[in-house]
Amino acid sequence: MNFCSSCVMPDTKPGVVLDENGHCNACRTKKIKEGIDWTERFKQLENIVHNIKNQEYPFYDCIVAVSGGKDSWYQAAMLAENFGLKVLCVTLGAHLPTTEGIENLNNMIKDLNVDHMKITIKPSTFRKIRKKCFLRQGEPNWAEHCAMFSSVVNTALIYEVPLVIWGEDIAFEFGGIQRSDSKPSALAIDKSDLIKEKTIFDWIDNDISERDIFFYKYPDYKKLVDAGIQSIYLGHFVKWDGRANYEFVRERGFISRKKGPLPGNFLDYDNIDEKLCEINIWFKYLKFGFWRPTDQTCYDIWNGRLSRHDAVKIVNQLQDQKPFNDLDDFLNFHMITKEEFDQTVEKFRDKGIWKLVDGEWVLKNKLK
Ligand SMILES: [Zn+2]
Repeated sequence: MNFCSSCVMPDTKPGVVLDENGHCNACRTKKIKEGIDWTERFKQLENIVHNIKNQEYPFYDCIVAVSGGKDSWYQAAMLAENFGLKVLCVTLGAHLPTTEGIENLNNMIKDLNVDHMKITIKPSTFRKIRKKCFLRQGEPNWAEHCAMFSSVVNTALIYEVPLVIWGEDIAFEFGGIQRSDSKPSALAIDKSDLIKEKTIFDWIDNDISERDIFFYKYPDYKKLVDAGIQSIYLGHFVKWDGRANYEFVRERGFISRKKGPLPGNFLDYDNIDEKLCEINIWFKYLKFGFWRPTDQTCYDIWNGRLSRHDAVKIVNQLQDQKPFNDLDDFLNFHMITKEEFDQTVEKFRDKGIWKLVDGEWVLKNKLK
């Protein structure tokens, strides 16, 4: 486990390769982004919008997948207000939303004054698939990423909406699989870094039938192309900055976490809308030796707001905090015992990067 010499990302993150200067993928991306002609990119986006407006669709011009988080709020505002498109906001319902999450979603729809559709997956299916993803893959949210992408794109097909908008291309922006540029098209978002090589069919067995997974199942690419549906990453056309998006929506009613940052977090506004996602992120710590504090401080380093020196201090101070404030809800929701949870934690802990010292697990290679 080695760390980037410019930010604090370790090379244990899948896809990350440190170059001869010791720089990671995202730090190389930062250089690429500096060379992009953003005025030209914005014109490309204006062209897409122009073509859609010319076709005079009867109901909606575009769908924005929204959670009530800062980024989706910003996206929907841009499409509805700057470009004057008729926007349909679509949410994949969180099963254990936080009060901040509910308030933010309500505030967002009021603020934007748009139509909103919420898709809620049958609770028993949702629970069973999450439980399997947790126990077998140490990634309880895996199938939700599938469901988010698939439900939104299926909605575009059903309602004949010609444009689907996503935020950033995460592999490019956060440095997973190395790319020389971001992608404009999100057609293959079902194969993104969040999904990797598995499909929803890998989780079907006796207790989950194919009829239960409609909203998890991504449509054929050909069907989407034939229907004239474009799916794009806004981050390809507009210089993306999560913190700037936060500043933008804060003025419009977005609220941060009322009790301050979650355990292990440096920010109080990141992924605060539901209770089931922190454990998912924390499992990265067991598998790869980093989680929220690394992601959040790296982001500020890449955007020139934090020094590596300060990030090292923050990460070392926060990364051993455990995201267990909603653990009872997590166990109850998945119907698993604390013992099963603890066994799963140890099953996914990479003993190549962790060692036991006086009965405590510590990383073999400390960030410095
Ligand atoms: Zn880096």
